[in-house]
Amino acid sequence: MLEKEDQREFQEKLLRWYRHNHRKLPWRETQDPYKIWVSEIMLQQTTVQTVLPYYRNWLKQFPDIQTLSQAPLQTVLKAWEGLGYYQRAKNLHRASKIIVEKHQGQIPQNYETLQSLPGFGPYTTAAVLSFAFNKPYPVMDGNIRRVGMRLKGLQMEAKPSVDKQLKPFLTSLFLPRKSSDFNQSFMELGALVCRPQNPSCLLCPLQKFCQAFRSGTQELIPQPKKMNLQKIQAVLGIIKKDHCFLIQKRPSQGLMADLWEFPGGKIKEGETREEALHREIKEELGSRIQKEKCLTRVTHSYTQFRVTLHAFECELKEKPVLNPQTHRWVTLSEFENYPFPSGSVKVIQCLKKRYSPQK
Ligand code: SF4
Repeated sequence: MLEKEDQREFQEKLLRWYRHNHRKLPWRETQDPYKIWVSEIMLQQTTVQTVLPYYRNWLKQFPDIQTLSQAPLQTVLKAWEGLGYYQRAKNLHRASKIIVEKHQGQIPQNYETLQSLPGFGPYTTAAVLSFAFNKPYPVMDGNIRRVGMRLKGLQMEAKPSVDKQLKPFLTSLFLPRKSSDFNQSFMELGALVCRPQNPSCLLCPLQKFCQAFRSGTQELIPQPKKMNLQKIQAVLGIIKKDHCFLIQKRPSQGLMADLWEFPGGKIKEGETREEALHREIKEELGSRIQKEKCLTRVTHSYTQFRVTLHAFECELKEKPVLNPQTHRWVTLSEFENYPFPSGSVKVIQCLKKRYSPQK
């Protein structure tokens, strides 16, 4: 902890730097808790540049909690398509319904009540309470955690358990009633100055208080996480009837729940792509296939795994077993009405190029 005198200097330097250097972002120009909540959910694991157009479209489509709570889930997922981690959109939707039904459409200001809503973990709860209501909670995102770890010289991985050490330190630096500015300043400093690589320590207002800078260990903090990116190979069947393509809905639980996809699945060990395609279509639609022809191959990286999708055009030999709740024949333009995982969106782009009428 810093001495009183140093604390004051720390606070003044940080807030002055923020006033002169922060980026103008739409969610910083508002005190509306709903807009702040939406931005915080979108910004999880996603860059500001990616989020900006989604955020603007979202607020056009769902300008307030009431509108969001009344929208069909499929419309909500479509607005989220491409942002990934679709559970975030489902939780926004579920929480909006609870807020309207139980809290008169007002986002609760009590920590425990707010944290009990779907999608409100410790991070989002602290962020909404701090940014919208100026409540004194440190918002432990990756940027703040990194700045805090470097200030304290903690040479370890940026695990959530580190937060136990950082929270009392950061809280001791808060100015009463300036919680929002304080959290925003730390975050912005982490994004613009105290970056993961090549931090600009010579421009940093907190240099004097930074143990990592003093010991020259800033680039070693935090230590990198050990990641094992799983690689998945999968096949998809592009089945066409007249001008329509067959798609199916994923289950409501698990990975990419409630999104739509083409029939198909993972290639098993020892299987060729064609064998996997025959097996998957038989299992999923109860029909054998013929005339399979590789249409395209796309790769997409998610956080935990990297998937390569081999899309085959093929014909069904028998009448498929379809469930009207979970299967649809859709035209090229109707793809727009259904939310798909990002890998499938790339396949759809390929289909549009192939089948759109030449202009
Ligand atoms: S001095 Fe360097 S390492 Fe320390 S907080 Fe500032 S930018 Fe980060």
